[in-house]
Amino acid sequence: MRYFIETYGCQMNVADSELVAGLLDGSGHRRATRLEDAQIILFNTCAIREKAEKTIHNRLSQLARLKENDPSILIGVLGCMAKHLSDDLLESKPYVDMVLGPDSYRRLPQLVQDRKAEQEHIVDTRLSRFEVYDDMFPSRREGVNAWTSIMRGCDKFCTFCVVPFTRGRERSRSVAGIVAEVEEAVRQGFVEVTLLGQNVNSYQYEGTRFPDLLESVAAVPGVRRIRYTSPHPSDMDDRLLDVMVAHDNICESIHLPLQAGSDRILRRMNRSYTRSEYIRLVERIRAVMPECTISTDIIVGFPGEQDVEFQETLQVVEQLGFDSAFTFKYSIRPGTKAAEYEDQVPDEVKQERLEQLIAVQKAITLVRNRTYVGREVEVLVEKESKKSSLQWAGRTDGNKWVVFDKESARIKDFVKVHIDTSHGVALQGHIINAVDLSCQEAYHAVG
Ligand code: SF4
Repeated sequence: MRYFIETYGCQMNVADSELVAGLLDGSGHRRATRLEDAQIILFNTCAIREKAEKTIHNRLSQLARLKENDPSILIGVLGCMAKHLSDDLLESKPYVDMVLGPDSYRRLPQLVQDRKAEQEHIVDTRLSRFEVYDDMFPSRREGVNAWTSIMRGCDKFCTFCVVPFTRGRERSRSVAGIVAEVEEAVRQGFVEVTLLGQNVNSYQYEGTRFPDLLESVAAVPGVRRIRYTSPHPSDMDDRLLDVMVAHDNICESIHLPLQAGSDRILRRMNRSYTRSEYIRLVERIRAVMPECTISTDIIVGFPGEQDVEFQETLQVVEQLGFDSAFTFKYSIRPGTKAAEYEDQVPDEVKQERLEQLIAVQKAITLVRNRTYVGREVEVLVEKESKKSSLQWAGRTDGNKWVVFDKESARIKDFVKVHIDTSHGVALQGHIINAVDLSCQEAYHAVG
């Protein structure tokens, strides 16, 4: 049968969809490039915010007609929303055949067969304390970056977050399993690896901690760039920074979620660090790696957030000058502790704060990006620019997007680019050196 997977949410979900594709490929099914051509349609869902859930509900509603026309089509809902809302889903969308939580994917090929035979709805949203899919290889589309999941679940229980309930407790994959997957990715032509976990730096496997794992991955021949996301500020330590400095192929770029700049709100969020601890950590990172770029996540309008506390968040943002920030309005997630707080902030206040924060961060991003003008940076060519088919877009080690004329460069080349201007979030420049053939040759040799 041909299958189609539509993925929502974070990179963990992208990695999970590749895992599911690997499972289905391995049991004789084939990927369809269009949903309309598939006999198995899977939605890999996200429950992190109400908006994401609404989008998925709307999208699923569009499948009712498809199912009516061809009842043999199998429709499955996977991932976080499946775990969180399985009853709701089946009640409101009875044409959904399968609802599978994030720890049930291994059973998918069998369940597809069962569903065909029995015509019963299948629901399996049990969470496991052990499942890490360590022995399974994802089926990736050709590309530059290989998302590599190193752990699953989260034990931090931030009061706004549904992840510990949808993805279960924290568990890590073996070092050997991760290294084998990275070696396979290199063999397939990937030059960049991003290690993924809900809380990536709390990785721990039989005494091996995240910095040691990072070293093992950095030692895999052919891995030109390594990134990781997202670390928790409380689990960052000097050893991790030392490993980043010691290995040229580990990118000096850290996504470090702040969430709020007020100690009272951070306590209420159960973030386990204070504003000053976070600030000291960023200062430490910059002392050890002056070129390291730092991005963050911030939630505005958390229950009880006073204007003065929001101002504290703005102050931290201004003081630290993040390279970029993902900013969100707080969204009630049923089942979490913060959903029970009675002092919810009105939506118009949240919206106002969000707009203020976005404006402040945008100005900071522009200033930081301007410091690159006139410099030469190494860029990995990743894709065609959205604006012109004559230009490439690629990222620097520090995760800055750069757009430049293609010249003779090809995707997966590393090129030296002189930065001429900076507009919006991207930098614009021109290639100043010959193409780095070592990478191109390596890629074409395996590919
Ligand atoms: S660290 Fe907090 S925000 Fe991140 S996944 Fe865990 S509970 Fe959610």
